[in-house]
Amino acid sequence: MTTATPGRPQPRPGILGIEPYVPGKSAARGAKIYKLSSNESPLGASPKAVDAYRASAATLERYPDGSATALRSAIAQRYGLSAERIVCGAGSDELLQLLAHAYLGEGDEAIYSQYGFLVYPIAIASNGAKAVMAPEQKQTTDVDAILAAVTPRTRMVFIANPNNPTGTYIPFSEVKRLHAGLPAHVLLVLDAAYAEFVRANDYESGIALVSEHENVVMTRTFSKIFGLAALRLGWLYGPAHVVDVLNRIRGPFNVTTGAILAGVAAMEDQTFVDKAVAHNSTWLSWLAAEIGKLRNHRHAQRRQFPAAQFSGCEACTCGRCLSAGPGDYRAAHGGLWATPCAPPVGGRRRGQPRRCRRPQGIHVVTKPFEKVAILGLGLIGSSISHAIRAYGGAMSISGHAKSAETLKAAAELKLADTLHASAADAVKGADLIILCAPVGVCAALAASIKDAVAPGAIITDVGSVKGAIIRDVGPHVPPHAYFVPGHPIAGTEQSGPRSGFAELFQNRWCILTPVDGTPPERVAALEAFWRGFGSNVEIMGAEHHDLVLAMTSHLPHLIAYNSVATAADLEKVTQSEVIKFSAGGFRDLTRIAASDPTMWRDVFLNNREAVLEMLGRFMEEMSMLQRAIRWGDGETLFNLFSRAREVRRGIIAAGQDTAAPNFGRTPDRKT
Ligand code: NAP
Repeated sequence: MTTATPGRPQPRPGILGIEPYVPGKSAARGAKIYKLSSNESPLGASPKAVDAYRASAATLERYPDGSATALRSAIAQRYGLSAERIVCGAGSDELLQLLAHAYLGEGDEAIYSQYGFLVYPIAIASNGAKAVMAPEQKQTTDVDAILAAVTPRTRMVFIANPNNPTGTYIPFSEVKRLHAGLPAHVLLVLDAAYAEFVRANDYESGIALVSEHENVVMTRTFSKIFGLAALRLGWLYGPAHVVDVLNRIRGPFNVTTGAILAGVAAMEDQTFVDKAVAHNSTWLSWLAAEIGKLRNHRHAQRRQFPAAQFSGCEACTCGRCLSAGPGDYRAAHGGLWATPCAPPVGGRRRGQPRRCRRPQGIHVVTKPFEKVAILGLGLIGSSISHAIRAYGGAMSISGHAKSAETLKAAAELKLADTLHASAADAVKGADLIILCAPVGVCAALAASIKDAVAPGAIITDVGSVKGAIIRDVGPHVPPHAYFVPGHPIAGTEQSGPRSGFAELFQNRWCILTPVDGTPPERVAALEAFWRGFGSNVEIMGAEHHDLVLAMTSHLPHLIAYNSVATAADLEKVTQSEVIKFSAGGFRDLTRIAASDPTMWRDVFLNNREAVLEMLGRFMEEMSMLQRAIRWGDGETLFNLFSRAREVRRGIIAAGQDTAAPNFGRTPDRKT
């Protein structure tokens, strides 16, 4: 704690006891930083908001609208509120400070939750009041602890719900219980900066409570889900008398024109918000699972963004971090910055052990690629492009296709930021290269790019066969690159650039078959890429992959092609009758048999041994069935059919298909 120096102007008592808020660093030499410490959006801002902000440059000489009328009415419309009861501010931080300034003074107390936003105790103490910390349970706001801390001097209670930075939340029933336990003269501040991320039915941001009571306010921000952190924009919804008080003391032009215009556009861009929510859900569950595997952490439930408690290491000076200063828990050599929950009032704890127990590996899996080159823009290639646009995974995309027609379609569909007729041009500067062409051409494609591959790049593929890919593509991978073959087990019977869609890989498996000696972090980076699209990832040997897929994918396609072709060849039944009377089972076979002939020719030519092995077993079983039918052996038929039926149930239980009739297919469903 700093003490006052006599003989010069003195600040109000309590201010020198506040540790200044230390924001996360915003730049580092030679590294791109992903600031988990501030939960900045990896998706940037809504393009519509960016355009609106640019447009504001035309009127820089004018003062902004001091009432932020357009923004308040956009917020009111979106959430069904009265614009009169909304105040906008330079970030919700300003509104929190204004509230403390208006309602606290010397001799007062205000309660904040233990790991809540650091600004609360700063705002409380800077107005001469006493900041009373209520302990949390499992890094979650504890209503009983807050109510127990209430005294006759209590004037305000601040909670972040969801909690910032721990990411936990309390359900609406608990918020109501907290409110019911507070005297009517105590102002309850519900900071709902992360409200948009919560998809739980038992959560309520605060709107309902504010609408019904005179002593509750809710604050919100544009810095998180909307990705407008640089603009400093927030808003408050409160009772008319609180709004009146804040409007008397706030700066007359506290929100800039650029922020107002960008905020209006952001409010109206629901597509962007949906994308940010989906992105967060995907990565939250993945990162929570990864943190769960670490030994030195404790981890609470109901989180809206990742937070973990590690033993040791509050101030890390391991020498490998980009910068070492007190307070930050850094994973900086991977380009990530996280933050600790340090107490700002009464001084930070010093003398902590400086041993770094950073969980190695987190960084590699959360970091997007700088540039992904997609070679082949058919069903799988175009779906990867859509998935990157929707869920992230790469900062930019370059694309290559063989035919001018596909390149033209790719341009129309905006499948890549740059499109190239030459594969070698497409891979220049890429740190991830994905071969998305039929298996039979991948070797030639790899040969054509080998002199253009950047050092350290990962080369992968999506081919349905892995042994042959390693055999044929492997020799063309330059020594300075890494080869991690892959196979997303996801597809439809359609092909070409117009058939792709972002959700193709969701809840589907992607198998990676890394070659010996590949550094684990390269495999982890690719694994994270696929998980980002909602895929589950399994790592196995190429030979095993080919055997499994021969049974589960290749053989069924062979049977489908053959059954449909046999029916078409029948002499006594005309083709038109086959089409007219096609039963459900046959229709399903025709769907599979509609798959791309080039792709499947290549699959069978390149997975010959495994398919022949499975085909042999299949024919033996078929002969057995043939015999059972001939001799009227119903028991054998019944037993085999029953066993097979169980497999279907297992697939549904594993979430790989739905139990809806007709396999859940509707005319416009793609899978
Ligand atoms: P697709 O829709 O037919 O697309 C294949 C693409 O590869 C086409 O855009 C084609 O370009 C391009 N191509 C062909 N030869 C090329 C060459 N020499 N150089 C560059 N590009 C070339 O096929 P897909 O379904 O996306 O299959 C692609 C890969 O994914 C295959 O290896 C397949 O085994 C694998 N895979 C497919 C599925 C599935 O269900 N479809 C599932 C998992 C994995 P043009 O359009 O210009 O001819």
